[in-house]
Amino acid sequence: MRVGIIAIQGSVEEHVKAAERALSERGGGEAVLVKHAGIIPSCDAIILPGGESTTIGRLMHREGIADEIKSAAKGDVPILGTCAGLILLARYGDKQVEQTNQFLLELMNIHITRNAFGRQRESFETPLKIPVIGEKAFNAIFIRAPAITKVEKNVEILAKCNGYIVAAKQDKLVALAFHPELTRDTRLHNFFFDLV
Ligand code: GLN
Repeated sequence: MRVGIIAIQGSVEEHVKAAERALSERGGGEAVLVKHAGIIPSCDAIILPGGESTTIGRLMHREGIADEIKSAAKGDVPILGTCAGLILLARYGDKQVEQTNQFLLELMNIHITRNAFGRQRESFETPLKIPVIGEKAFNAIFIRAPAITKVEKNVEILAKCNGYIVAAKQDKLVALAFHPELTRDTRLHNFFFDLV
């Protein structure tokens, strides 16, 4: 299995390590950095890390990576978006997204709001119930996290926190408002890799 990690900005290294850890548990595979066009077509799965969604979106679009991701999604390649990655997967942004004309991939039928839980100093971690990965709560780390405010057709809600939807799935697309790559728990990565 070849996993492409979009490596434009944000928590890229952490995602590479987390993906490699999960892959090694299931018999191997490789994580490759995606900094330019031409790599995505050979990937079996794609991860969009957290960071600054405006920057990642703009550069991804400019470099032609965004178009390749959209084609991959059409070809049923699983895509995981965490935090800023969740924002980028969304079809519907908030006022800020609209006003700044921010680029979104528009792949998932979700409405999002950026920085739903407040600023950097309001970052927090919390045990989160995510039934699809088992009984035991997942230690979810939220850093200037977005949230899903509403879902449309074909979207399955996987977890909620403070009344917001913070994990969702639509076919082979998975959106998480928090950072699974910052914990040693590989259950969400394994859940995602099972979609390949
Ligand atoms: N607040 C960031 C954004 O709106 C996302 C934060 C993160 O990815 N840690 O792009």
